[in-house]
Order: sequence, then C-alpha cells, then structure tokens
Amino acid sequence: SHPLLSVRDLGVRFQAHDSVIHAVNGISFDLEHGQTLGLVGESGSGKSQTVLALMGLLARNGQASGHVRLDGQELLGLPVGPLNRLRGNRMAMIFQDAMTALNPYLSIERQMTEVLEQHRSMTRRAARTEAIAMLEAVRIPDAARRIDLYPHEFSGGMRQRVMIAMALLCRPDVLIADEPTTALDVTVQAQILSLLRDLQSQFGTAIIMITHDLGVVAGLCEQIIVLYGGRVMEQGAAASLFARPSHPYTRGLLAAVPRMDDADRPLVGIPGEPPDMSRPPPGCPFAPRCPGAQPRCHEGLPLLAAVAGESSPWPLQRACHLDAATVRAWTGSQPQSA
Ligand code: SF4
Ligand code: MG
Repeated sequence: SHPLLSVRDLGVRFQAHDSVIHAVNGISFDLEHGQTLGLVGESGSGKSQTVLALMGLLARNGQASGHVRLDGQELLGLPVGPLNRLRGNRMAMIFQDAMTALNPYLSIERQMTEVLEQHRSMTRRAARTEAIAMLEAVRIPDAARRIDLYPHEFSGGMRQRVMIAMALLCRPDVLIADEPTTALDVTVQAQILSLLRDLQSQFGTAIIMITHDLGVVAGLCEQIIVLYGGRVMEQGAAASLFARPSHPYTRGLLAAVPRMDDADRPLVGIPGEPPDMSRPPPGCPFAPRCPGAQPRCHEGLPLLAAVAGESSPWPLQRACHLDAATVRAWTGSQPQSA
C-alpha cells in the first residue's frame, strides 16, 4: 500500500528577472496518518516554499519538480479543479498570522458554515452545529455564542484556535502548520501545541510542522528535516536527531534553544546570515558560517548520506564533509580547540 504522503526529490525554482533561483533542492520523505514531521530552519531556508509546493500554492514564477503523491496520486501538475477539491478536503494549511487566513468582514459562523456547505454539502443548520462542535474541540469556551463574533473580537491565541478549527472542518488527512505559534506568547504557544497533539490523536491527522525553533518540535514530531539554503542538512527520527545531532547546523540550532532546566546557560545564536539564494556558494551552503568549515567545504557540495549504525524507520541522514563522530564530539555548537 502507498504511504499517505510521499515526497520524492522535491525541487522548487523561481524564474527571476535574469536568473533562476533554486529555493528548494532534493527533499524526500514519507508521512503516515497520525504522524508529525518537523521542517526546521531559519527564515529563507526553503521551508515555506516546500509546503507551498506541496499545496500547489507557489507564486506564478515558481515551478516545482520531483514527486508529491497523496495515497499514490501524483499532485504535481494536477489541474486547478481537482487541486482545489484536494485543498481543504484532504490537505489544509494554517499560518503564523490567523488574520491572513480569516476574512475580517465575515462572522466566524459564516466563514465556517461556508466551508461545510461547499466541501461537505451540508445544510446551513447542520453546518452551524458541526462548526460549534469543532470550536469546542479546539477548546473555545462558550462556542455556541462566540461563533457569531468577528475575527477581531478574539484574542491572538483564540484566533489561532479558530483558524485550526477551520482547517480541520473537512477532516483533512494532512495539516500543514507554518510557524503557527511564533506570534504568540510562550504560555499560549504551549497550549496551541498541546491542542494540536490532542486533535491529532482524536482525528488521526498527519501534521507537517514548520518552525525555526527546534524547541517547538521537540515533543511533537517523529521525524525532523533540518533545512539550510534550500537543502537538507540533516534528517531522520526526532529521537536520534535530538540525542545525537551530527550536523554542525543542527548543533547550532540546538545551542539556540532555551532549556527549561538550564535557564542560566547563555543562548548562542548562529553568527552570520543565510546565503543569498540567487548566488549560492559553490560548496556547502553552510560553509560561510560553519565553525568546522575546511577548504573542501567551500569547493564541493556534501551529499546527503545515512549515518552508520542508525536503525529506525527514519535512519539519520546528513550532508557534511566531516564525519558524524567528529561533529558529535564537539562541545555545544563548537569544535574543541586543541
Ligand atoms: Fe560545516 Fe563543512 Fe559540514 Fe558544511 S560540509 S556543515 S561547512 S563541516
Ligand atoms: Mg516562512
């Protein structure tokens, strides 16, 4: 049988004025019902373009290559009609800012019942009942009354819940969440993440969670893909990646995650800027910022390869010229000085 979602060698390129920008290169993964995949990287690493390609929502000068199969059906190149039916029904997306996804001029009731009337051919009355039930599922208190409010009448966290409820109305198989908690304070962030976990076990939804913060996906994902400069740096089971990170960029990201048990530890950001995607460096994209970079790193692109001795459904893979053991022996995000 087919995996629920199977992505192979996904690429995204943009035709700019006089050049081609390769925003995403060679991403592959499988996702099953009820599983969560974390797509992690700084802004500009290609994570948003990756999921926009999955949803068929790239800007007009963007072109996707490779394969995206849902239950074995190829989505890349699908005409607009079938693609629209798929979106919302089988794959839905939530965004960082709920206001961009909600219509400010319509009540929540009207927005939710419209989705159900269109996608699930419900009557307005049945749709209202269903919408209230979904607002209750995302734990909006007094849902039967608040469904008649407008988006601006909700707090940021409550608005995020409304957006999640809207996305789940058609019971999608795959929910894509693009930094859904970034704009929220830490307490509300934690509430939304635990809500997503509960909804996932209730509805069996597969989730692709996009974030720049490895801390956000720590307790949430089975698999993680770490992106940099539009390429996979490290990928595999979340448990292995957190226990034995073996790529310098992953080490850097982990050093930037605040830890509850170690509040005094200084936060180390990764110095420097992500690469200019219109003129990527010839070798490893991370080389200009990597504390372990060597001459060969500036010359040849390291290929993604499995780390020896890894056995899990998602064996750890990494793209780095240094061997995994050397990087794992670093303290923090840095090589030891001799
Ligand atoms: Fe650093 Fe070189 Fe590995 Fe790139 S290939 S991450 S520059 S050590
Ligand atoms: Mg983004």
